[in-house]
Amino acid sequence: MYLADFHTHSQLSFDSTTPLEQMADAAVREGLAELCVTDHCDLLDENGLRVYEFDWHSALEQYRRTVPTCVGALKLRLGLELGMGHIDPTAAEGILARPELDFVIGSVHNLSPRAGGLDFYFRDHSRPETCYDTLDDYFSSMAELAGTDFYDVLGHIIYPLRYMTAPVTLNRYWGRIDAIFRAAADRGRGIELNTYRGQTIAEWKPVLEHWRDCGGEIVTLGSDAHAPQGIGGGFRDACALLEEVGFRYTAVYEKRKPELHRIERRSYQ
Ligand SMILES: [Zn+2]
Ligand SMILES: [Zn+2]
Repeated sequence: MYLADFHTHSQLSFDSTTPLEQMADAAVREGLAELCVTDHCDLLDENGLRVYEFDWHSALEQYRRTVPTCVGALKLRLGLELGMGHIDPTAAEGILARPELDFVIGSVHNLSPRAGGLDFYFRDHSRPETCYDTLDDYFSSMAELAGTDFYDVLGHIIYPLRYMTAPVTLNRYWGRIDAIFRAAADRGRGIELNTYRGQTIAEWKPVLEHWRDCGGEIVTLGSDAHAPQGIGGGFRDACALLEEVGFRYTAVYEKRKPELHRIERRSYQ
């Protein structure tokens, strides 16, 4: 039984108020072997304004304070969820040049700069036309990001669907998604199965099938928990799905290097 949550947030993310100590305590209670904190650093803020730095001082201080409380119970890793790294390679390289860093999720949470940069969360997605406009822009950004070195895994590929109330599907995008996946797989990178605290599992099946068919091997599990109660949410179902699609391992990272752990059937039955 080896479960590791590699997508979680703490009070250093604008949308969380939880100290890392509390996230770590919850991970131990959930029986996880590893927890990676991946606070937000988006190069565009919610309104599309540029961001150039991450508060590493606070992040390292919080991480170093928490590690000793986990000894013998949990491996605590230091990650980052870097949004839109491709729009400013100089800033992205500077932010990621930290020897302490274990893991980087590359995400896209905003419209591209040329489309205004607004956070998807704040766009009205009640009409299909708007949804497809967002998805067109989103997969263009993802394609640019996938060709960079500013990620270890591509974050929550199906992310914009969270906010779409109109009935839309990814059907028209599989060709573009395959190109993104081939670029990531060719670079030895991975994707994450983001359970969204247990709310999205089945939606990942076609995504995983495309990842597999494009030569993808590395998959991390992430809950995207911003508070203790979501940690590890849906991981047993996620493991069952991974095995069903043909994946035998989940990945963890230490100092940006992947390590694979066999999925054991007894871990989810
Ligand atoms: Zn995210
Ligand atoms: Zn996140």
